[in-house]
Amino acid sequence: MAQDDVFKKVVAHCKEYGFVFPSSDIYDGLGAVYDYGQMGVELKNNIKTYWWQSMVLLHDNIVGIDSAIFMHPTIWKASGHVDAFNDPLIDNRDSKKRYRADVLIEEQIAKYDEKIEKEVAKAAKRFGESFDREMFCQTNPKVLAEKAKRDALHERFSVAMNNVDLEELRQIILDEEIVCPISGTRNWTEVRQFNLMFSTEMGSTADGAMKVYLRPETAQGIFVNYLNVQKTGRMRIPFGIAQIGKAFRNEIVARQFIFRMREFEQMEMQFFVQPGKEMEWFEHWKQFRLKWHKALGFGDDKYRYHDHEKLAHYANAATDIEFKMPFGFKEVEGIHSRTDFDLSQHEKYCGKNIKYFDPELNESYTPYVIETSIGVDRMFLSVMCAAYTEEALANGESRVVLKLPAALAPVKLAVLPLVKKDGLPEKAREIMNELKFSFNCYYEEKDSIGKRYRRMDAIGTPYCVTVDHQTLEDNMVTLRDRDTMEQKRVAIADLRELLQDKVSITSVLKKLS
Ligand code: ATP
Repeated sequence: MAQDDVFKKVVAHCKEYGFVFPSSDIYDGLGAVYDYGQMGVELKNNIKTYWWQSMVLLHDNIVGIDSAIFMHPTIWKASGHVDAFNDPLIDNRDSKKRYRADVLIEEQIAKYDEKIEKEVAKAAKRFGESFDREMFCQTNPKVLAEKAKRDALHERFSVAMNNVDLEELRQIILDEEIVCPISGTRNWTEVRQFNLMFSTEMGSTADGAMKVYLRPETAQGIFVNYLNVQKTGRMRIPFGIAQIGKAFRNEIVARQFIFRMREFEQMEMQFFVQPGKEMEWFEHWKQFRLKWHKALGFGDDKYRYHDHEKLAHYANAATDIEFKMPFGFKEVEGIHSRTDFDLSQHEKYCGKNIKYFDPELNESYTPYVIETSIGVDRMFLSVMCAAYTEEALANGESRVVLKLPAALAPVKLAVLPLVKKDGLPEKAREIMNELKFSFNCYYEEKDSIGKRYRRMDAIGTPYCVTVDHQTLEDNMVTLRDRDTMEQKRVAIADLRELLQDKVSITSVLKKLS
């Protein structure tokens, strides 16, 4: 199936099965804002729990907080967001569509990469086992020509971005003959800077209202609380503070469903270390975070690092963990070594000493910070894309199955009476009432058993049990496995023990330690 189609199907599936709805749907939606439905909220909560427990439960030197969305406006001056949280935008005069200039150019670079990959794939097929990829890339004239164009463009782009040279960005778009995907023309406006923060007013205008921002990241709530937490929690460096919360960005181009939203959720952890030790910790968190993703079992080839060449003004190292979405490898998480930039800025702007006193060294210093920052919604999207599967069955039929890791699945067990009579519903309810304290169960008596299995496959329920007449006599049920579709008779009394481990987040967490 073409990857474009996969993505469209995932989006449609999310709506059809109660995972994600456009916000304000009956009013035709609101750009790049989405609501999570009855299944979506469960999956999302499970993702958050997996992250939270992997940070706070598994590390005795990491604690959590929940800071407010509104913060003192000077925080955003200190952090650099008021002056520099900008994206370069460009409009196409014919389609009247707006784009991020940097994204247009990055997509062009990706096109060169794709061309190279195509040549490599063709050659690999031709040469078979004896194919030497490295040698081919170093010598094939077509590959070398594409690579030279790609590298030259990349270099020119990096310089333009680093110098915030908006004219040059436009010139690159013209020179590369990049066209608007809607109108197909090159009728571009100038490139302008656009600040991504939403603002509102706090207090009534009569008292002189104050302009406040909706936070564009959760990290600053951690920085301004780090000393409160350190002192009250008697934390010693190295230590971390984790937070899950909403963030808001007035994104210029909001496309690709929940990949880029205007209201989204982040899971961030700031790890405070002694200056000079940051690279060691950066490596540590880079490894740990990739392991966290891979532990879900979607396949290691779905992930890659993308080290940043252009570093943000505050960082001395940065990498993204990218996930293979149907529309290419895309950032899901960022790991940044933020130096002492944020804390030093806050110290300067608030005028207070916020240094850490290190009892071992008997000196005060401003800690360095390693940050891991992942978007819940992007993670959600990556999970949905990886899980969505269409399968042809032996009987000639097909099914759509969400192969979600059992630990993340919204429903763990469906309890299905074979028929709606003869005491089977009552027996099924009894099983539900027993197991619902251990994991999320779902009761369904409508439609044929085959249809009910399909519905459970479509929402990713890893196990179903069917209650039949025999059950009333022997207290055994048919347990069906979502992925293998195998069925076996098991005793009701054994269900909890059989399933609990398999569906619990603990089972994935154990892979991390
Ligand atoms: P991008 O380059 O895609 O705009 P970013 O580098 O600005 O992302 P960060 O500021 O590093 O993103 O934010 C950390 C994480 O928050 C990202 O890896 C992503 O998962 C998530 N995120 C950022 N912006 C959005 C958004 N508009 N919608 C959904 N998730 C987002």
